[in-house]
Amino acid sequence: MLRLLASCLTPRWIVSATVAIIGLISVGLMAQLLQDNAYAKPASDKLECDNSISLTSVPVQSEAPVIHDDDEFTATSSGEPKLEKATFMMLVRNSEVHDARSSIRYVEDRFNKNFHYPWLFINDEPFSSEFVKMTRSIVSGNATYGVVPKEAWSMPDWIDRQKAEECMNTMESHKIPYGGMESYRHMCRFFSGFFYRHELLADYDYYWRVEPNTQLYCDITYDPFTFMREKNKTYGFTITLHEHESTIETLWPTVQDFSRAHPEHIHPNNALDFIVDDQKSITEGSYNLCHFWSNFEIASLKFFRSQAYGDFFDALDRSGGFFYERWGDAPVHSIAASLMVDKAEIHWFYDVGYRHQDYMHCPEPFAEFHDSGKCFCNPDQNVDGKSYSCTNEYLRMRGDLGGQ
Ligand code: GDP
Ligand code: MN
Repeated sequence: MLRLLASCLTPRWIVSATVAIIGLISVGLMAQLLQDNAYAKPASDKLECDNSISLTSVPVQSEAPVIHDDDEFTATSSGEPKLEKATFMMLVRNSEVHDARSSIRYVEDRFNKNFHYPWLFINDEPFSSEFVKMTRSIVSGNATYGVVPKEAWSMPDWIDRQKAEECMNTMESHKIPYGGMESYRHMCRFFSGFFYRHELLADYDYYWRVEPNTQLYCDITYDPFTFMREKNKTYGFTITLHEHESTIETLWPTVQDFSRAHPEHIHPNNALDFIVDDQKSITEGSYNLCHFWSNFEIASLKFFRSQAYGDFFDALDRSGGFFYERWGDAPVHSIAASLMVDKAEIHWFYDVGYRHQDYMHCPEPFAEFHDSGKCFCNPDQNVDGKSYSCTNEYLRMRGDLGGQ
């Protein structure tokens, strides 16, 4: 058993112990912030399947930058708008029906009541008739219900199940969020490598991911899908955060190996600056844990179906990290988008006020978003200026392209 445990470990515990001493100084300051908040765990709570957990803080930005969308875009015309090949997509359990309805209501009220885009609901087991009835009753477009194929929700044969279980137990005992949960791993792997291959998505070019228990706070009076297509955008987000390092210990080395094996997939004008500090290269730098929070995404399916992304996912999947660690789809999508598309194809939907659990993006400029009646969130609670956001890294990466 010890040997099995050891194989989950990386040899960096000595460094971690040292960093932990420095990190402990910041623990007191951050403890209040992080209390009862699975997501707000510190940026680098490094766990290496042993006892060394280190904490380091990131600088707190006192004031969030003010970003304007320089690509002013209002598309709603009179009459029925012409729809893109796009859909909402929600992976959800039957038991989450009320939280799902709440999210749908927000999306419909703030946007879709004027557009009627279809909804696609996906589950790892068949939807109950109750779920179908309760959701169909509040969508303004078509609703379709699908099940995840078995191979997209099980451990592949190259995974050593016993080792995976040992790693899950270790992570559970260290209280890593969802550390001991196998289903969470299937969910992350599904979003990393399978959703875009689901037959119900086959006819679409863009998706908007919606999760149960999310809120939208601003009227969206244009079609974001049209925006994506016309402006040649590939990946859109609202919130950036730091990942829990303990869930992705070997992700970056695996990405570095991939970049050596497939230099042809690395875009020459990529967004590496968002995920690696100090202008270091992929192979010299380390991952700064920044990611786009993937519970909100508006993105191109063409990108996920590309050879580049397919090779990327296969390389990650083969390494076993979805099960031996707990790689999230957020860092996986974010690293892929940051390395394999032109950075100008990444779009911050700054105008979309959005909350999930403890984090809210609320656009700040008062005249434009609040006095106008467009939004109803409290900009004082905007996550963008907080230490656990990656706004600074994003703006640094955008550089002369401007905030959006
Ligand atoms: P978190 O946002 O990281 O805390 O993770 P969630 O528990 O919200 O899960 C992310 C998304 O996957 C949500 O849309 C969930 O409804 C969905 N999800 C997570 N686990 C399962 C599962 O076992 N079955 C199904 N059908 N959906 C799941
Ligand atoms: Mn969630």
